[in-house]
Amino acid sequence: MANNYHVYVIELNKNVVDRPGWNTDEYGPSGNKLRCFYVGQSAHTPECRYAQHIADRSATFHCICGLTESPVNPYQIGGQTFVVNHHFALRPELYTRYNPLPSQAEAIAMEERLTLELRAKGWGAYSK
Ligand SMILES: [Zn+2]
Repeated sequence: MANNYHVYVIELNKNVVDRPGWNTDEYGPSGNKLRCFYVGQSAHTPECRYAQHIADRSATFHCICGLTESPVNPYQIGGQTFVVNHHFALRPELYTRYNPLPSQAEAIAMEERLTLELRAKGWGAYSK
């Protein structure tokens, strides 16, 4: 059975703009709209992928969406630096309507589109 793919949006604490590597000119926010987001895509559900991003790095991680059966070491999953250090909350109201997506290529295209949509609102948005 083919996997579904998902896009997801994590709101970041707005002090992420002070972190080295956050390019306000490119990512925003602009004006006084001080909200910042991380946009990603995954075959895991947004809830599972978020749990992976913020998982305890010293422990094994158990997938909560049923995609991966064996425990996974979070070091192998990876957690994006902005998310690991500045995560605030998943924001389903910003992505649920786009899921699920039938292929990774479509998920990657939607990830980019969603990032640009958030920036167009004047918010800060980052995706890889
Ligand atoms: Zn999972």
